[in-house]
Amino acid sequence: MTRFLKFWGTRGSCPVSGPQYVEYGGNTPCLEVAYDDTYFLIDAGTGIRPLGEQFRKNIGKEIQIFLSHPHLDHLIGLPFFAPAFQKETQIAIWLPAQMAKSGKTLLTQFLSSEVFPGGFEQIQALLRFYPAFEEIPIQMGEVSLHFCQIAHPGVTYGFKIITPKQKIGYITDHEFLRGYCGPWDSPPPHLLEREAKTIHFFSDLDLLIHEAQFSAEEYKTKIGWGHSSLPNTLAFLKATRTPQLLVTHHDPSHSDADLHALQQEANRMLEGTGFSARWIRDGEKIELPAPCHFCYVGKMRSS
Ligand SMILES: [Zn+2]
Ligand SMILES: [Zn+2]
Repeated sequence: MTRFLKFWGTRGSCPVSGPQYVEYGGNTPCLEVAYDDTYFLIDAGTGIRPLGEQFRKNIGKEIQIFLSHPHLDHLIGLPFFAPAFQKETQIAIWLPAQMAKSGKTLLTQFLSSEVFPGGFEQIQALLRFYPAFEEIPIQMGEVSLHFCQIAHPGVTYGFKIITPKQKIGYITDHEFLRGYCGPWDSPPPHLLEREAKTIHFFSDLDLLIHEAQFSAEEYKTKIGWGHSSLPNTLAFLKATRTPQLLVTHHDPSHSDADLHALQQEANRMLEGTGFSARWIRDGEKIELPAPCHFCYVGKMRSS
């Protein structure tokens, strides 16, 4: 059985390439989630293109794609996703229910023939569009996917993935503690209170995957851009009582050296606190723990 998260794109805002990016990579967000028979994708950034190459051999059931929001960096890979151009493929695209436009309207605009030769009609796969609701998690086999609207321009979801063994938060675009430029470990209570819904939703995770797009210094001139400073991401980690952070959605202006420096800065700030942080790279795969025998026994007894 296979159980993993694979990060096909860890760059935020705009794809990048060049010698300064070879270590962390330049594809925009796409996360592959596999857990036994459960399989789905989150976001369709440029990372979905190389993933799609593998799908040619593996067509058969509907591919579930959950979009956090329709900003370009999360959608731009879709017209290069090979299975979308095969008649026998079925794709379900989920978008936040609160969005004013339907998924089909959005994609038709995005894939107009002036922008993409042939336009939306080029897509051969059977596409279905669904609204994802904050109040209604989606159960897929042993895994449930939960949605929470978060602070980012437009309607944007963060995700909570619950397996029989773990609770994982996945939030690529999130400006936590908007406007706060103080120390990470002591934000004022009234600011935390403002974020109570998000903190509650993501509290006590096993693993938080989150952006930290700006350094503390950079954030001072980028307040309101929809992304978190490193200190504010660490404040979120602390507020949610989550021991482990993986950082994704790296700023396109940050070279490998810049990301190393940010990671060192995070390690320095977290030293002795019991929290840990690591910056994730394109192509990295995180194995997920299997459900234990006793979980099954417990379930059988309680059912
Ligand atoms: Zn983004
Ligand atoms: Zn965005």
